[in-house]
Amino acid sequence: MSKGIHLIFLGAPGAGKGTQAQVIAEKYAAAHVSTGDILRAAVREQTALGLEAKGYMDRGELVPDGVIIGLIRDRLTSADFPANWIMDGFPRTLAQAEALDQLLSEIDQQLTVVLNIDVPLDLLMDRLTLRRTCRKTGQIFNLKFNPPANPEDYDLYQRDDDQPEAVSRRLEVYTAQTAPLIDYYRQQDRLADIQGDQAMAAVTAAIDSAVQTRL
Ligand code: AMP
Repeated sequence: MSKGIHLIFLGAPGAGKGTQAQVIAEKYAAAHVSTGDILRAAVREQTALGLEAKGYMDRGELVPDGVIIGLIRDRLTSADFPANWIMDGFPRTLAQAEALDQLLSEIDQQLTVVLNIDVPLDLLMDRLTLRRTCRKTGQIFNLKFNPPANPEDYDLYQRDDDQPEAVSRRLEVYTAQTAPLIDYYRQQDRLADIQGDQAMAAVTAAIDSAVQTRL
């Protein structure tokens, strides 16, 4: 079995997966694979993937499993893919989780731990509608909870799917399709619950300690 840090970040939209994954990826020199970021880049560049994904994303629906699984397979099996990696926003359905298990056994890797970033649903709407991302650096901020110190240094924009209508749909989709993965990984004894409604640094510390105990 090959060594390395292999993390999955589970959690509702707005739970802080992306923010925490950025910090933890830097700390462990891990590749940060965000399927949402990959899809948004494809939409911007108007590739075939982007054209296929755009409608689903705008509606707050999931892109079909086959498309996403293919995209992850390409990365994980590429010869220069780093030994340490973090998945942020994948898997999101049971079919994706099963495909990942199969893929990991093919490439002889094991998940270190699945981090379930738990935030009460009623906090998520504010977090999402006030979220802003920097076009230049990809850094994620929140106008209320985590504002940039010097806003003029950043080129901030609001994601299309952070408008209230798409947000409600994304939260429904999360509850119906992604939340069942919490039990899936708990049964495999790979889950660590992280209380996500604390200060950012406290969430990072809790993640770090969950990773350390599984290494
Ligand atoms: P995110 O940035 O993770 O919130 O993802 C933004 C959007 O990209 C989602 O609402 C979906 O439309 C799509 N997406 C991202 N990851 C996945 C995935 N694993 N499966 C299906 N759709 C995804």
